[in-house]
Amino acid sequence: MMERVYLGLGSNLAEPRRQLDAALDALAQLPDSQLVAVSAFYASDPLGPPEQPRYVNAVAELDTALAPLALLDATQAIEQQQGRVRKDERWGPRTLDIDILLFGERLIDEPRLQVPHYHLQARAFVLYPLADLAPELHLPDGRRLPDLLSACPFEGLERLVPSSPAR
Ligand code: ATP
Ligand code: MG
Ligand code: MG
Repeated sequence: MMERVYLGLGSNLAEPRRQLDAALDALAQLPDSQLVAVSAFYASDPLGPPEQPRYVNAVAELDTALAPLALLDATQAIEQQQGRVRKDERWGPRTLDIDILLFGERLIDEPRLQVPHYHLQARAFVLYPLADLAPELHLPDGRRLPDLLSACPFEGLERLVPSSPAR
């Protein structure tokens, strides 16, 4: 059975837009999956230590028959392929972050994976791109995207003009 997944992508190193393009190409190659749609790209202020470049963020919509942990393995492999170095510092700069925001109607609470993503409601750089794809989205826990958006100002966010006609 295919389930609809929303993935949050972010990069602030080594040409962030190209990192996102490469990640989307890799996501499009995943087995038993189909990349359905991609939001606009957004520039955002960093969440963690302030002395780091701004981020570029987007949300991707993927239909997949992979199990949640198999998808996490695959997205972490893509992060590794694109040179992500894991450091002790939380929310430090990175070439690529792929977070599983929503996975069908599932509520997942495992050591390696919590879905819906725990911080989704607080992040404009997640909510606004998500709304590009599914403005009326209902979350499996009963929350509605329009309500989350009205509680989260479009602050520190900038919608980027597409760099190529394809996206
Ligand atoms: P944040 O989760 O606050 O956005 P981050 O994305 O920088 O921070 P990472 O270093 O990418 O954090 O991931 C840390 C761990 O979070 C991963 O090893 C993964 O097992 C776990 N994790 C839990 N839930 C999720 C999820 N929904 N999507 C991706 N990773 C998750
Ligand atoms: Mg993250
Ligand atoms: Mg992450």
